[in-house]
Amino acid sequence: MNTKPSDDELQKRVETISLQDFGKPFRHLAYFNGRLRTTGGRYFLSDHHIEINPRHWMEWGWEVVDGIIRHELCHYHLHLQRRGYRHRDREFRELLAQVGGLCHAPPLSNLSPRRRSVRWLLSCQACGRQFPRKKRMDPSRYRCGHCKGTLRLQEIEEPVEEES
Ligand SMILES: [Zn+2]
Ligand SMILES: [Zn+2]
Repeated sequence: MNTKPSDDELQKRVETISLQDFGKPFRHLAYFNGRLRTTGGRYFLSDHHIEINPRHWMEWGWEVVDGIIRHELCHYHLHLQRRGYRHRDREFRELLAQVGGLCHAPPLSNLSPRRRSVRWLLSCQACGRQFPRKKRMDPSRYRCGHCKGTLRLQEIEEPVEEES
């Protein structure tokens, strides 16, 4: 099907939306993070970068991802201006409504049966590598094959990235 846009493309898109809808430049980094689970996007207070879940693009396209970008840009601009950037802050809610950002990213629900068949995800706490599993298992009995880190098992209700 469609291939995911590049991080460059996403970066330009965030910069454009920032200028058009907020009238201010976005001067930090934006990129896709395939490890986000159900979250559509994230803004980092520490270094002001924005991460977007590529699955939302694959299942919903730019229309939804643009709404997620606007949401993250509300955090971004308000935080940089030392204004109320949290979800509970009135300034955040007002700006979000003004620019037409999404309150919540839509669920990743259009899962094909094949994707749905992967039920468990083993992830390394040290290096972040992920290993899909069909059956439940005891993570404490194993170590990461790459770095020997501790493993964590979680049930998944969303697709694991696949080539298509
Ligand atoms: Zn948010
Ligand atoms: Zn590891």
